[in-house]
This record gives sequence, structure tokens and C-alpha cells, in this order.
Amino acid sequence: MKFNKKLENISTYEAGKPIELVVREFGIEPKDIVKLASNENPYGCSVKVQHAVSEILPHMAMYPDDSMKKLKEGLSHRFEVAEQNIVIGSGSDQIIEFLMHAKADGNSKILINSVTFAMYEIYAKHVGAQIIRTASQEHNLDEFYELYTQENPDIIFLCTPNNPTGDAIGTKEMLAFLDKIDSDTLVVVDGAYMEYAAYKESSKKVSPKELIEKFDNVIYLGTFSKAYGLGGMRVGYGLADAKIIKELYKLRPPFNITTLSLEAASVALEDAEFVNECIALNFKEMKRYEEFANKQKIDIIESYTNFVTLCFNNNINATQLSDALLRRGMIVRNLSGYGMNAIRVTVGTKEQNDRFFELAAELL
Ligand SMILES: *Cc1c(COP(=O)(O)O)cnc(C)c1O
Repeated sequence: MKFNKKLENISTYEAGKPIELVVREFGIEPKDIVKLASNENPYGCSVKVQHAVSEILPHMAMYPDDSMKKLKEGLSHRFEVAEQNIVIGSGSDQIIEFLMHAKADGNSKILINSVTFAMYEIYAKHVGAQIIRTASQEHNLDEFYELYTQENPDIIFLCTPNNPTGDAIGTKEMLAFLDKIDSDTLVVVDGAYMEYAAYKESSKKVSPKELIEKFDNVIYLGTFSKAYGLGGMRVGYGLADAKIIKELYKLRPPFNITTLSLEAASVALEDAEFVNECIALNFKEMKRYEEFANKQKIDIIESYTNFVTLCFNNNINATQLSDALLRRGMIVRNLSGYGMNAIRVTVGTKEQNDRFFELAAELL
């Protein structure tokens, strides 16, 4: 059978290996498997969320509230933006997909960082758009600007903090960059890890309200999958000028967020204490990764997220190391596919990290 030609050069997104797969493939007991591969919150989600969701379980026969009133009110309050500035997606992934269809087609160019979140490229290919990449590993806004003037892209993606490298753009620099971009170029600021960056370093904190007030061509993306511990619920949001949101709504399938997910995200927003505790623990444990890297003489990129990126010299092969870890029940992310001899490790609980240090020390 012949399929859409655009699909020919798309490789399927490889999510972090699920625990079930490692159980089957290597015959390891689930209790002996540690997954530090998808930047999930190792402390789970707020107990308040669990209670709230269990209380609405009897209401599953009804379609969800498609106006998403409660969650929109929560986001509107949290970010001080109007409800007309909000779109909610099945993960912020879905909003990236909407954006691509809203703004790009087979004649478009998409400007992204050399190493960044894989979904930008995959969704760009869905519409046949051309990908332009910078050369620098970290977001270099001078280089972005140069490519912008040369290539005239339709969409620019800024991922801050960046996945999979963990570095973040300074807010001042970003605002100065956005000032120079014409209003017909859509700029996506992906803040999937912004809660972590804002906690660690205020000069990296991006305010969606400020972006919306200053620019009508910028959309900020956030997610409940990382700091809020709701990866399994699939909820993300986009905050932008109402004219952008209106277009995205044309692409949104009805009922794209389930009743349980809407409730979970709404309640999660109210439990700031839980999120702050998790973030504080994250950076406390991250220090141990820095110490580990120093001791092992491996490069570690300064991270503003809930993961660390360990970069190796030629003596260590990232693919071999991640395979060896996997056979011992430790799932991490091999970054060879991103052109880096490196692995990305989600900062886990103290016990999970102990296990990583023990296994990695043995293998290195
Ligand atoms: C995890 C992540 C997302 C979105 O995740 P969803 O679960 O789809 O909300 C978006 N961007 C980056 C950079 C991420 O790491």
C-alpha cells in the first residue's frame, strides 16, 4: 500500500522505554526496575489530586466539559491571563501539532536549536515543512537571529530550559530577541521545565503574561507532565494572544481532554506546596549527580530542569553504557540519536539515584 510521501522520512518517536517492556525483554522484576528516562516526577502527584480524581470516577459515562471551565479558570488565575488567551491540549505535544498545522505547510521553514525536543521536527515533517537547525548545542540567540534573517522561517522554537540538555535562555536576552522578530513569524517558547528554572534562577524565569502583553506572535507552552507529576494524564496548555488561540481552536478535536485529566490538572494547580517540595528535593538530589560526575571525571551540563545530561569522551560509548544499564534494570535516555555521546538521566528519588550511582560507577 502507498502512504503519504511525507511519512517516508519520519522515524517514530522513541519514548523512554516503559517498565513493562523491560520486564518482558530482560525478565527483571518490576520492583528491580528504575526508570529515569522520561523526566517524570519521581514523587508522583499530589495526594489531593488522587482524592479528587477518585471522587469523580462515577461520572465517566458523560463526555467531559468541553469548555474546560474549571481548568481555564485555574490557569487564568495562576498566570494572570484571560481565558481567551488559553488553549488546552492532550499534553503540550498536541499544541505543537496544532501550531504546525495552523502556521506551516510544505513551503514552510521551521527554525529550531541543533539539539532539542524531537517532536518539533516530527510534527514539522507531518506538514512537509523544512527544518533549519542552528549549529550551537546551547540556544545561541545571535545564531537564531542570523538564520532568521537568512531563511525567513515561519515558526521559531525556543525550548527553555532545553530538553535534552537542561540549559536555559536568559529572559532578558529572550525578550531582546523577540523584539527583533517580525509579527508574522510565530515564536514558540516551550516552557515544559519552567517551574524548575524559575525556582533555581530568577533570571531564567519567563512570564507568559509579559510575553502576551508584549508580543502577538509568541505562544508559551506549559505542561502538567513534569513538575506536577501528571504525565499519565496528558494535559498541557498554550498561552498566547487571542488571535492565535482562535486559530488553534479550529484544529482542536472535541473533548480532547478527559474528565479525569481536567480534574487532575485543576486540583494540581491548587497544590503549590506539593510542587515546590518536589522541586526543592529535585535540586538537592541533583547536587549528588554533580558530585558523582566530578568524581568520575565526566562532563555534566548545568541543568535548570529535573534531569541531568552526562557527556562522555571517546573512552565511553553512550549506547553501550545505556544498554548495559538497561540490562541491569536502569532505564536512562541514550542521546546518541541526537548526535551526542551522552545520556540524559531524570533526577529520581534518593533511592533511585543511589541505584544509578552504584550501577554507573560499576560500569564506567
Ligand atoms: C515533556 C515535554 C513536552 C510535553 O510533554 P506533554 O507530556 O506532551 O505535555 C514538551 N516539550 C518538552 C521540551 C518536553 O520535554
